Amino acid sequence: MITNPDVIVVGAGPAGTTAACVLAMHGRKVVCLDKAAFPRYHIGESLIPYTYFTLARIGMVDKLRESHFTKKYSICFVSQSGKQSQPFFFDSHFDHPATQTWQVRRSEFDAMLRDNATAKGAEIRHDVAADKLIVENNRVVGVSGKDADGKPFALRASMTIDASGRDALAVNQFGWRMPDKPLDRFAIWTYWKGAVRDPGRAGGATTVAYIPDKGWFWYIPLHDDIMSVGVVAKKEYLFRDQAVQDIAKIYQREIKENVWLTEHLAPATQCDEVRITNEYSYRAKHCAMDGLVLAGDSFNFLDPVFSSGAFFALKSGEMAGDAVHEALKKGDTSGASFTAYGKRYCDGIEAMRKLVYAFYDERVNYGHFIRKYPELKADLTDCIIGAVDKDFGPLFKAFAEFAEIPAELPFGAPLTSAVSTTGKGG
Ligand SMILES: Cc1cc2nc3c(=O)[nH]c(=O)nc-3n(C[C@H](O)[C@H](O)[C@H](O)COP(=O)(O)OP(=O)(O)OC[C@H]3O[C@@H](n4cnc5c(N)ncnc54)[C@H](O)[C@@H]3O)c2cc1C
Repeated sequence: MITNPDVIVVGAGPAGTTAACVLAMHGRKVVCLDKAAFPRYHIGESLIPYTYFTLARIGMVDKLRESHFTKKYSICFVSQSGKQSQPFFFDSHFDHPATQTWQVRRSEFDAMLRDNATAKGAEIRHDVAADKLIVENNRVVGVSGKDADGKPFALRASMTIDASGRDALAVNQFGWRMPDKPLDRFAIWTYWKGAVRDPGRAGGATTVAYIPDKGWFWYIPLHDDIMSVGVVAKKEYLFRDQAVQDIAKIYQREIKENVWLTEHLAPATQCDEVRITNEYSYRAKHCAMDGLVLAGDSFNFLDPVFSSGAFFALKSGEMAGDAVHEALKKGDTSGASFTAYGKRYCDGIEAMRKLVYAFYDERVNYGHFIRKYPELKADLTDCIIGAVDKDFGPLFKAFAEFAEIPAELPFGAPLTSAVSTTGKGG
């Protein structure tokens, strides 16, 4: 058991276990705490091609290849009238093993990531909730909370990584939540056994089926003949009928009103409870401060229409692991030493965020766009598959003719001066 870690990671989701794994691979002593016992339920099942590179770095690709997870080769769209597009196969865009990715059951995927990080030398402790970041002289010096027996503890380290997901430990403690209001949506979902799938490789596709008012369904084929099916829309749309406020009834109504979903779920049986989440897009005001770095959803949550959440969690976990290792090596764990980390991370998120805004803009029609700008088709695809380190200036300049492309969010850089970290409003 590690008693004096170099780094504490809060949260053993994809961001936390990846950061812990990378740090352990650098030879760092790292303890990762998760308030839950695993396996635990989590939403976020569809991976995108560029997750491959982080998964390869931490040694997960062969394990995923040997797993029973559904292989995902493509995505597909269904119009409101029920017309299904041809699947878009990733290998029609580039020739690389990354063109086949996976649809994962997160309870299993997260446990695999955890076991992989443990095998590399990280220590993962379950049932241990971090209640607070310990702040001394405007520097985070560790966390306090309750251990698996309910006993209070305080653990100290030179660096802490907040990877607590949408529980967002630092964001809540410091008042750093900056909502991305235009993207406010609700999601309601459950699971079905025996739903219709396309034959062959196309059967692993994520399908996005449009509903009125720019809402959409996801249709994600998991293993064991389970289908994850969720609807995402504005609150006003989903809760429009005063007489139908029960989420299971709203969900059933939306399926009944959609020809494609009705047909595809006709032979299926619902096999889980109906779940809901809301108001979910935000960014933290800061990605770091002295002694602290944020990774994954604890820093930024973006609408899931392009299935980018696990990708950003893995990628930011990897980047945070490297950045923290470098900071420790240089002996400079100030917030300022994470400036490059924050810039690269925010630039990547901004590319995907612009794409999400364009998706919700009624004037955008991808077919028209590609016909007018065929030379930008590759850029559009790169953005969708997660090649977000690229310069997408020309793509979004052209998109601006069709849609309102948002200005970049003016926050997310590290907190570099010692102000207001002991209370809300920093
Ligand atoms: C409706 C919906 C659909 C989505 N669909 C997709 C999709 O198809 N594809 C995709 O890639 N992404 C999707 N996402 C996003 C995806 O779920 C997240 O982006 C991803 O799980 C983020 O990983 P993470 O490691 O940052 O956080 P999480 O996976 O949330 O992990 C955080 C961990 O921290 C632990 N924790 C929290 N607080 C504490 C604490 N105080 N102390 C100790 N431990 C703590 C939690 O128990 C948890 O295990 C979806 C999200 C939603 C809401």
